[in-house]
Order: sequence, then structure tokens, then C-alpha cells
Amino acid sequence: VAAGLEQLRDKCAETSDGYRMPLWANTGLDIDVTRALDRGAEGIGLYRTEIPFMIRDFFPSEQEQMQTYRSQLAAFAPSPVTMRTLDIGGDKALPYFPIKEENPFLGWRGIRVTLDHPEIFLVQVRAMLRANEGLGNLRIMLPMVTSVHEVDEANRMIDRAVNELREEGHVTERPPVGVMVEVPAAVYQVRRFARRVEFISVGSNDLTQYLLAVDRNNPRVAGLYAPYHPSVLRALEYIAEEAHKENVQVSICGEMASDPCGAILLMAMGYDVLSMNSTNIPRVKSAIRGITHVRARGLLSQVRGMDDAEEIHMLLRTTLQELG
Ligand code: PEP
Ligand code: MG
Repeated sequence: VAAGLEQLRDKCAETSDGYRMPLWANTGLDIDVTRALDRGAEGIGLYRTEIPFMIRDFFPSEQEQMQTYRSQLAAFAPSPVTMRTLDIGGDKALPYFPIKEENPFLGWRGIRVTLDHPEIFLVQVRAMLRANEGLGNLRIMLPMVTSVHEVDEANRMIDRAVNELREEGHVTERPPVGVMVEVPAAVYQVRRFARRVEFISVGSNDLTQYLLAVDRNNPRVAGLYAPYHPSVLRALEYIAEEAHKENVQVSICGEMASDPCGAILLMAMGYDVLSMNSTNIPRVKSAIRGITHVRARGLLSQVRGMDDAEEIHMLLRTTLQELG
């Protein structure tokens, strides 16, 4: 099987009736870029920038960040690399920036932290923009967005960083900016976000946790963490429809895209890009190549009428097994 998957690298993810599904990778460390290239990823849909921050003893300087980002961008150029602004808080802690809270998943996380600390945000964005000089494949993505004003504020700060750099003599382009949909409130504002940014990307790990009120890391409730819950699926489908009403690209970068069952459903819902841990790219590619788009759409409509997450997952698994 491994050899079979290996041979898939240079083939694209296309259904047997000719529907193309771009598969991108999620990265954090430099080694993830090598793996993503090896597995045939066509872009980076989520570079978790907090990872290089987590392995240091202090905030990396603009120059250090610039070098780190440059190596990700250069390795993948001209394909797109989506850099998420610092997403700390919740389950992700920086040893040199402790956040003590009783309820961290409902607390100071992601964009909330960086909008309260514009100096952190601006230095990071400046580093990204400088890293992108002469390459032009950067995209910037905002995590844990809840309200439109957060997008407006982040956009203003990105403009400010672009202007500062131009005044300093840099040749700086404004890159595409995107919003992550991972808070339930964001689901119902996708169109408003889509009018303000160039792309939408679903963080299904957090979105599942918040829709179902199930801590994604608590083993006691792990059985209740159900990405195939009808409510989660309804939300995912709605997000894709709403983004497309504004002609904005919609991708997904949560774990769900890396499960072949999830990937097939997301493809049927109309997601434009699936971004995943690169280890799973060959499995997902193989599942897509083994099904028709018509069949995937049929499965989606069958699933819409079902009530139970386990049954839905089972139907998808058995169907994919039958298809080989
Ligand atoms: C997500 O929440 O689905 C996501 C991609 O972000 P992270 O897993 O880093 O929170
Ligand atoms: Mg998240």
C-alpha cells in the first residue's frame, strides 16, 4: 500500500469523472515543508506561526521571524503559503508570555491577544511582508475571529505595516488576507467577512469543539467530539454556500479534511481547497481518485437526511471501503 501511495505523488487529486480537488498542507516546523513537498501538496493552507514562537525562550525579533517565514515561502514559491497570525491562548502557551485563566478556550485567544498587543501583530506582519519581497506567494490568515470589527482592525494594521515598509523603501505588496471560521458566531457572518477579505478558511477543530461544547483535548468527553455531527455538517455546508455568494475562496484546514470520509463530504459541499497534515495527503488523494463527484454529491444528500454522527461516519467509511 505504501508504495502505491508513493506513486500518487505526481498525480493530482481528481475524481474519476474529472473533478479537481486541490490538496494543500498544514505546516509548523521547517521539516513539515519538506514533507509537504514530498507528498505533493499544491500549497500551504495553514502555517501555524506559533510553533516557531513556542520553541524559543523569548519573542523572536522581526529579523528572526523574517528569516523563518522566508524559508517557508521560498521552499513553496510560487505556490501559496498561508501564514496564520499568532494563535496563542487556549491550548497553546508561550513559556515567556503566560496567560492564566479559568476557562482558556473561552478566553484570551488568537486575534483577541494580538489586537490587544498591536506591537506583536505589527512586528509579525512586517516580518511576513518582508519575507515575501520578491516572492509574492504569501497569504495572511486571522485566527479566532468573532466579529467584523476584528477583521477591520486587523486589515487596518496590515495596511499600516505595508505603508510603513514602503516608506522605508521596501517594495511591498499587500497580500491576500483571510478569516478563519472557528467560532460559531463567525458562521453566521461569513458573507460579511467575505466582503472584507480574499478568502475564508474553516478551522474545524475549534469549530467542532465550540459547536458541540466539547473540549477538543479532554479524554473524558472525547467520545462526544463528533465532526460528523449533523450540526457540524450543516454549519460546514452553510459556510461554503455563504462564501461562494461573495465569490470568495473557501478552504478548510482542520483535521476533518485529512480523514478521507471528511474530505469526500467537503469536496461535495464545494470546498475549494482542503488543507491537511501532509502525512494524510496520499490517503485523501487516493479516496478522491476512487470516487466520482456525482457519487460524492449523492452521499452528501444521503447524509443530510441522517440523525446520528456515528451512523454518518459508518456510511462514509463503508462506502469508501467498497470503492477500495
Ligand atoms: C482548527 O481549529 O481547526 C485549526 C486549524 O487551528 P488549530 O488546530 O491550530 O487550533
Ligand atoms: Mg483553531
